[in-house]
This record gives sequence, C-alpha cells and structure tokens, in this order.
Amino acid sequence: TRTQDEEDLPHATKRTMADHLRKYETIFTLTPQRMRMITEAFKEALELGLQKPGQIVPMIPTFVFGWPTGQEKGEYLALDLGGTNLRVCLVSVQGDGKFEIAQSKYRLTEEQKQEDGQKLFDFCAECLKTFIDQNLTESDSPLHLKPGEKLPLGFTFSYPCAQDRIDHGVLIRWTKGFGAPNMEGHDVAEIFRKSLEKYDVPVVLSALINDTTGTLIASHYVNPKTKIAVIFGTGCNAAYMEHVSNIEKIKSLNIDSSTDMAINCEWGAFDSFEHEHLPRTKYDITVDEDSNKPKEQAFEKLISGRYLGEILRLVLCELIDEAVLFLGQNTYKIEVPYAFDTAFLSLMESDPTDELLMIIGIFSHFFALETTLAERQFFRALAKLIGRRAARLSACGIAAIVDKMGYLETEEPCLVGADGSLYNKYPGFADRIHEGLVDIFGEKGRRIVTHHAEDGSGVGSAIIAAMTKARRDAGLY
Ligand code: BGC
Ligand code: MG
Repeated sequence: TRTQDEEDLPHATKRTMADHLRKYETIFTLTPQRMRMITEAFKEALELGLQKPGQIVPMIPTFVFGWPTGQEKGEYLALDLGGTNLRVCLVSVQGDGKFEIAQSKYRLTEEQKQEDGQKLFDFCAECLKTFIDQNLTESDSPLHLKPGEKLPLGFTFSYPCAQDRIDHGVLIRWTKGFGAPNMEGHDVAEIFRKSLEKYDVPVVLSALINDTTGTLIASHYVNPKTKIAVIFGTGCNAAYMEHVSNIEKIKSLNIDSSTDMAINCEWGAFDSFEHEHLPRTKYDITVDEDSNKPKEQAFEKLISGRYLGEILRLVLCELIDEAVLFLGQNTYKIEVPYAFDTAFLSLMESDPTDELLMIIGIFSHFFALETTLAERQFFRALAKLIGRRAARLSACGIAAIVDKMGYLETEEPCLVGADGSLYNKYPGFADRIHEGLVDIFGEKGRRIVTHHAEDGSGVGSAIIAAMTKARRDAGLY
C-alpha cells in the first residue's frame, strides 16, 4: 500500500519504477542456456556461409592471405569510411610490429550517407587530395611525393562487399543507416577509382578492406597470439583466419589449399529475415521496422551503438504513453526517433554520484525533462539491461567462432582484438563479454581474452596494402 506522500508525488514513485523494472529485467535478460542455444545456431550459420555463396551470414573471403610477417615496410595511405567519420591516414609501416601514423578526420553528415554514391566518394577523394596536398607535396615534408609518383592506398570500406580479388568489391547491402542509391550491387572500388581520377589524386587503390579484417591483421602484427578481431561500434562484425580448404564456396578458384585466408564474417546479419534465434523484444522489432533496412542486420540491431540508445528510448516512450513517466511535462524532445544517443547509456551507467547528477543533466539539458531519483535509478538500471544484453549476445558470436575453429582445444589463450566505440567507451562492456563467455564455456571460457585492438582501419589497412604489394612483387596476384 502506498503512503499519502507517494500518492501526492507528481512523478512515478520508487515502488512503481521497481515494478516496471522487473518486467524489463525479464525480457532483456539472457540465461546461459539461451546463450548456448544462440551460439550453436550461430555456428551453423557460419558453416553455411562458408559452404555456399549468398547465405544470411555471408562469410566473405577477403583475399588477404595469411598473417603478416611483422616485417612489412613502407609508406601507405589509408582511407577509412566508417559509420560515423571519414579518416585519411598516412601510415609508415616500419617492421618489427612498429608503425607511425598521421591522420585527419572528417565528420559525415546524414545527407552524405543518403545522397548519390558517386558524390559520397567524390567527397572522400577530395579529402584525400587535400590531405596529400597538405602533408606530402611540400618539398620539406618528410615524405615528399615526386611528380607523377603515386602512393598505394588501402581503402577501408566497412560494409559487406563480395570480393573475388583484393582490389575490388561488390556492395551487398548498406548497413548502419547508409542508403546512398546506385551503390548496392556495384563494384565500389570501381566507383571510387572514378572519383580518384576526377580529382587527380596521386594514389593507386591497391586493397579494399573491411575494418574487421584490418583489425585482425593490425592486432596480429603487434601481437601474434591474436586469432579473432571484433568491432563493436556503430555497427558490429568479426573477422578471423580460415583454412582455404574449409572455404567450400571458393573451391573452383583452385587456390593453394594449404594457405589461409581472412574471412570477414559480416555477422551483424545473423538471424536476418528469418528471426528464428535471437530474443527480439517489441522494441527491437520497432527499431527494425522503422529502419531504412527492415529485416536486415538482425544481430547488429540488438548490439551496436547505432541502435542501443534507440531501444532505450522506445521503452521510455512506452512508459510515457502508459502515463508512468514525465506526467505533466512536455515530452516532445524525447519522442524524436534516435534522439537518445547510445553515449547517454554509457554516461548513465558511469554516473558516480548518489543523486545521479549526470542523469539529471542529460534529461534536463537534452530533453528539457525533470526526473526524480527513483526514475533516474530506473533509467540507469534499464541502460544496464540493454548494454548487458548487447555484450552477452556479442559473447555468443565470439563463442561461435572460437568453438567452430577449436581455439579452446589447446591450453593457449585465445586473443581477440576488439575495437569500436562501444567496446572502448561503454563501461563494463568488455567485462560483460568475458562473463558471457564463461556462462557459455564454463571456466575454460576465461582463456578467451579480448583486448583493445590496434587501429585496423588505418594501420591494418596499410599493412594489408603492404602485404598485397609483397604478393604482387612475388607474382602471386
Ligand atoms: C558492417 C561491417 C562492419 C561493421 C563494423 C557493419 O554494419 O556491415 O562491414 O565491419 O559494421 O564497422
Ligand atoms: Mg571505424
């Protein structure tokens, strides 16, 4: 029974918020048993992707053959078109696991993500050109480009592209909210070369690379125990090194079956279209249906930074509709899709104050809403549920690769290079992945250790460009 005081409160009381929380706990919590089931289904999807082309999890052969030797050398440019930024890097690969990097970053606008693809690539070429003019053409710059000379470029294009050589790739689908028309189904390297010509950029596009593949190679370059690379950022994905003999679908290419090739899993697509395995809530279904790509990237939509804030926001909107939250306040600001950034979840979880002052700040500053302590505690707990679910699902993906490859069959630790804003900035994300791995594998799961990876999209891209050059020089491509 409620006290008179609680009845008089304009906002929800502690007791009612706790009741609501229990409901969300039930729907956002993943038991170890459920995680093991997801891992099994995931493993099957990975296997299937290696057998036949065009599967839900595409398991893309990258034509990056084997690990770097660590002795790769030279100056390379890398262009990183990620989910949020565009980055141009000049990487000096120095051998012995060493490198130096100079870079410039440009923010991509929402418009650029949707406008004509050639225009987007023109912008990339222009940025590259400006960077080169500023850094490589001054006669006193340490690396001075002679007239007519061209630098090799690794293009990190972090979207699923089907490849049958390293320097081209057909965009299977846009992800992460991109939607530029006339790109899907086309060779993006070819389109980019047109932009490079148009702006007369002195580079040769030598390798088209996924960020996960770059991360795998860069992490291995500095730590040869690395076996898997994962990205948990705006999107999510993984890459690992596969035996060519296991990649049934490229048998006809007659590649030496004793070699290895990196596989870009594109695991964000797991359970797309069919939705048989993942625990999707009604909020997840709304996120999916209102996205520019309904039914696609089912796994990614439960995990990646692009969506977590939106999932939480949809729960809040439900409670606004049920007249539980923010009674008598104007809620229009929080009712805007994607208004609630995933960075707010990180901030809410890391608020060190008893009064949860940071959460007060977020709601008042960004949404003009007043909150009670009970509400703030609820918001924080909700963030924790959504963040924890994302990390535990991520663990299922890692576990599927580890299990498929038998990486726990030896006593060696299995190192996983991890990158992306969620992994790097969300408090406890890594710990929750590790807890999840123990829930799946028991004690031996502790041998799987994730660590902050080297910059795959810059440094990794450059190392792959160097590996590509070495193979070309040896007449292997
Ligand atoms: C893309 C992947 C990429 C990942 C992380 C996903 O949306 O499909 O290619 O590796 O995001 O950036
Ligand atoms: Mg990136």
